Amino acid sequence: MEKERKQSKNRLLPAFLLLYALCLAAAVLFVLDARHIRFHFSGGQELELPVGTLYTEPGVRAVSEGRLFGELGRDLPVTAEGWVDCSTPGDYAVEYTATRAGRSWHARRTVHVRDLTAPVITLQHREGYVTTWFAGYEEEGYSALDNIDGDLTALVERTAWDDHVDYTVTDAAGNRSTVTRKIPFSVGKPIITLTEGTETEIPAALRYTDPGFTAADELGNDMSYAVQVSGEVDPEHCGEYERVYRIDSGRGYGVTVTRHVRVVPAPLPAAAEPQEKTIYLSFDDGPGPHTAALLDVLAEYGVQASFFVTCRYPEYFDMVGRAFREGHSVCVHSASHDYYGIYASEEAYYADFLACEELVREQTGSYTTLFRFPGGSSNTVSSFNEGVMSRLTESMNTMGYQYFDWNVDSDDAGRTRTTEGVLQNVIAGCEGKDCCLVLQHDVKDYSVAAVRQIIEWGLENGYVFRPLDMTSPPAHHPVAN
Ligand code: ZN
Repeated sequence: MEKERKQSKNRLLPAFLLLYALCLAAAVLFVLDARHIRFHFSGGQELELPVGTLYTEPGVRAVSEGRLFGELGRDLPVTAEGWVDCSTPGDYAVEYTATRAGRSWHARRTVHVRDLTAPVITLQHREGYVTTWFAGYEEEGYSALDNIDGDLTALVERTAWDDHVDYTVTDAAGNRSTVTRKIPFSVGKPIITLTEGTETEIPAALRYTDPGFTAADELGNDMSYAVQVSGEVDPEHCGEYERVYRIDSGRGYGVTVTRHVRVVPAPLPAAAEPQEKTIYLSFDDGPGPHTAALLDVLAEYGVQASFFVTCRYPEYFDMVGRAFREGHSVCVHSASHDYYGIYASEEAYYADFLACEELVREQTGSYTTLFRFPGGSSNTVSSFNEGVMSRLTESMNTMGYQYFDWNVDSDDAGRTRTTEGVLQNVIAGCEGKDCCLVLQHDVKDYSVAAVRQIIEWGLENGYVFRPLDMTSPPAHHPVAN
């Protein structure tokens, strides 16, 4: 019995010892763990304070805070020490000390006293002062005062515009102020108004005519005389252009309006084969001494033809008007008909074309979009300027002009020098064709003399005679240069 009790006591002892050791270890851990102190800053550890604002200690808590047992600890007493000069920008430190059982822990808060106030700009106004846009503004005075830096008037940047002045100043802390003065105008800046608006789209052309503008001051007085226009539109080339209209005050500012001009390809009507058997008679290089006789014959038969005119014989210019009035198609050929002059450059060609077109307008009242290249589009006489025909055929089409070649050559400017020869060439050329574009020259008397028989042959063979228009088949040749 005694032995049994002893045995059970011996069995319980190690269990007690183990429990005791565990409790001791936990107590030590608890004590050690609680020795971690954490500071909690109300308002943050970094604090920004506008200069001039009183610093009030927001408070700090120091808490024994274990890693294992969280915030099981308690608040410790904290003392704060430090000095913040609220009237002077700078960084100030406040030191905190927490103590417990003879031990102390430290922490620091930084207080940034900052200048956050921008300088104040004050504008002076002279009693009764007014001016005009042209007369310009005479400064009435200004000052700038900063809470920290004091008088900053000398640092003010002044930018004068046409109708207002901007004043800007920045203090040492980087605070920036801007004020704007509206200039007291009795008459303000003029207004430029563009006819057709600032955005225009035009078809490519040899000419550009500015749609115009109006300009007036605030009282409605006309000021268009003061407008300077700059910027060129190159109407021959598709693209974007700018025209600038400006009235300059002469004082470093002005009123500017910009017109954007977009040049786009001109429309070119599609050619259509005529429904009937058709002969288009065409006569180049006139008007000349035989044009009147030719017009008489055409009138006699009621036949309309096409005249590709030049400016070489001024005494016959009135024949251009007569041809137009009698229903013939009047088209551009060339003012000078000088191959080496007109094919020297595109610009030379355009200048010659414009001169010839002017004759057409004078005589007919309007420009024409029909023309024929001297020598035809397949000429090689222009080969001294490589590729000029390729460029011109394309650019003239882009500008809405249609050029006509021919598919029946009378050869009256070649070896054929007789009326009979011209007649036979035209007949031979027309036979088998339903659409004939015949080339003749009304400056050749023997060619003009063949016209009556050509018309009679055509009528007998079921042809109608028509003048060319923009939808006529242009009989283009292959471009050879
Ligand atoms: Zn010619």
